[in-house]
Amino acid sequence: MPARHTTHPNDLPPTPGTYALLIDVGEPITIQIGRPGRFTLQPGHYLYVGSALGPGGLRARVGRHLRQHKRPHWHIDALTAAAPVTAIWAVESTTRLECTWANALRDLPGVSAPVPGFGASDCGCEAHLLRVPDPQAVQPCLSTTTSARVLLY
Ligand SMILES: [Zn+2]
Repeated sequence: MPARHTTHPNDLPPTPGTYALLIDVGEPITIQIGRPGRFTLQPGHYLYVGSALGPGGLRARVGRHLRQHKRPHWHIDALTAAAPVTAIWAVESTTRLECTWANALRDLPGVSAPVPGFGASDCGCEAHLLRVPDPQAVQPCLSTTTSARVLLY
């Protein structure tokens, strides 16, 4: 069983917001999900971007992502069941910022979208899962595209 992130969901606010999960893949993992189908992720750092605008806000949604055992619903569920979330960036906002974040991160040097369509079934983005060579670049990138304060949890 992979190590889990030390952040407790209660550290996050129960308010609406947008978040980015850093997921560390240590060994190649193969995942089978609906539309993108079967794919293999090579070892590296991955970011998944999403919004939590429903009941319970960021606390409820990110809490779900941090649980390993759950009934799969989103693409990301298959990945968080297989690899640890090691950092979470989030902003409190009632505006859905996930596509803005995904596009800004995609433009960083060396970032790729290994699974086209992952997490982006309902929008025009290439993917909401990105492979990032340098996690240190994430916070500055998100901060420059967001008017509210982006916090690391
Ligand atoms: Zn999008």
